[in-house]
Amino acid sequence: MVEIQALPETSIFGQIAEFQHEQVVFCHDHETGLRAIIGIHNTVLGPALGGTRMWHYASDAEALNDVLRLSRGMTYKAAISGLNLGGGKAVIIGDAKTQKNEALLRKFGRFVKNLNGKYITAEDVNMTTKDMEYIRMETTHVAGLPESMGGSGDPSPVTAYGTYMGMKAAAKKAFGSDSLVGKRVAVQGVGHVGTYLLEHLTKEGAEIVLTDYYTERAEEAGARFGAKVVGLDEIYDQDVDIYSPCALGATLNDDTIGRLKCAVVAGCANNQLKDENVHGPALVERGIIYAPDFLINAGGLINVYSEVVGSSRQGALNQTEKIYDYTLQVLEKAAKEGSHPQAAAVRQAEQRIAAIGRVKSTY
Ligand code: NAD
Repeated sequence: MVEIQALPETSIFGQIAEFQHEQVVFCHDHETGLRAIIGIHNTVLGPALGGTRMWHYASDAEALNDVLRLSRGMTYKAAISGLNLGGGKAVIIGDAKTQKNEALLRKFGRFVKNLNGKYITAEDVNMTTKDMEYIRMETTHVAGLPESMGGSGDPSPVTAYGTYMGMKAAAKKAFGSDSLVGKRVAVQGVGHVGTYLLEHLTKEGAEIVLTDYYTERAEEAGARFGAKVVGLDEIYDQDVDIYSPCALGATLNDDTIGRLKCAVVAGCANNQLKDENVHGPALVERGIIYAPDFLINAGGLINVYSEVVGSSRQGALNQTEKIYDYTLQVLEKAAKEGSHPQAAAVRQAEQRIAAIGRVKSTY
């Protein structure tokens, strides 16, 4: 008799089982050279929605890991925001500058089409509006299109609004009031979302310290918003009330947490905690209130969802405003459970999926 052995976690099914995905689709096309992976993490709440990114991954294993991690993140983001969406994501393996073309994208669109709406794609890293138009030629299961094509348009202003709401809720918890008048905020990254966030913050009367990888961009924002501009690494040492990571992930780590002088961390960047299990508790130990990233940056997803269900941008903004209440709830939950906010947010998302799963268990 053949002995069936437990799979090591490094095997493909081992990884899929670890992340608890429903389906992972490997897409290959000889003619166009397409190599893509679609990760469908969980569809209990609705179709799996998440962007497609193109990246020159060093290995297939790296691409698989990325798509599994990102699609699971989308499940939590949708669930905690009260959306009827599941989590999905796709990666196309290759150099976007040299290997991306109409045929490759349309072939990828065919694979999305064949999933019959179980996965809805959107724009992500290294994909342009034009690329999405090509995918749209082969499948209707595309969201986040420009307004000129009947889509929901640029998600950044909505993401910024949600981040602002989450920041105010965290401020309420930390300072007893959600007013940001006179509060000093350090903004790391003044790109699309960061700039819209600065508009909200300065309108309310917060004092800003900012930095950006592009010096010119930082100087421009500094002049426009009357903010102090500091160097890339100096941002962690600022004497501020709130640190707002709006550039990269993993900026909350062993090197930075000890340097922070703020009482609140609230920003739009994805995956801010380098290691959730280590750096979530580290912030609690330092007495810093952390507004979970996937909760407060969900405005963009809420905006895309409005396109899927046919509601307006105003509807998306109204829904995004609720991030204020959701953030307060999660912070309360974490305090009550004696855990850290990111863990409490994940649990809240999982509880909603489990509850709705039970609703759907009978006809
Ligand atoms: P963006 O590329 O427009 O802006 C990012 C900015 O960060 C750029 O100006 C860049 O120069 C700067 N930057 C890069 N490295 C830096 C560093 N080391 N220090 C300081 N600045 C640095 O991107 P965006 O659309 O504004 O998104 C910002 C973050 O929010 C990303 O992590 C993104 O994944 C996340 N996010 C964005 C949306 C959205 O709607 N755009 C939604 C959810 C999450």
